[in-house]
Amino acid sequence: MEDNNPLVFKYDDIRDRGGLTVTLSLPAADYADAFERPDTLKKVDVEMTFSVGGDSVLLEGRAAAVLALDCARCGEPVTRSFEDAFDEVYPDSLEYIDTREVVRETVALLAPIKILCSDGCKGRCLVCGVNRNLQTCNCKAEYNSSFQALKDLKVDKPENPGKKKL
Ligand SMILES: [Zn+2]
Ligand SMILES: [Zn+2]
Repeated sequence: MEDNNPLVFKYDDIRDRGGLTVTLSLPAADYADAFERPDTLKKVDVEMTFSVGGDSVLLEGRAAAVLALDCARCGEPVTRSFEDAFDEVYPDSLEYIDTREVVRETVALLAPIKILCSDGCKGRCLVCGVNRNLQTCNCKAEYNSSFQALKDLKVDKPENPGKKKL
């Protein structure tokens, strides 16, 4: 066990001190592989508070990361900060408290499924591809409205309750 890793703590040290709070800035490169694109993660900060209990140590932590993503509608880069809390209980039987995995999992899950550059992002024209936040094009709106009609059709599609598989 590497006890010089900043995310690994000696159990007895924490118990002897009666708890511990640490704030760490972690190298983004160490977590790059947790993202689809290795340059997504720009910055990671972690704050962890260990509280000593009767026969265990409770960890309550918070991970904050700056992520560089692409807007799901227009494709322009969006750099934003995300954060999430995590907690873990470590039993007395351990010699070391290794927080590497819980930190990694938390950081890896910080990226949202999709992000918009702004709530009002107009996206790209489906016909000519211009970024409609920056330019207006002369393409007809037909493309959009027929797409919408298709979506409505799907939603309105009646269920067929009479047909049951035996
Ligand atoms: Zn956008
Ligand atoms: Zn267009």
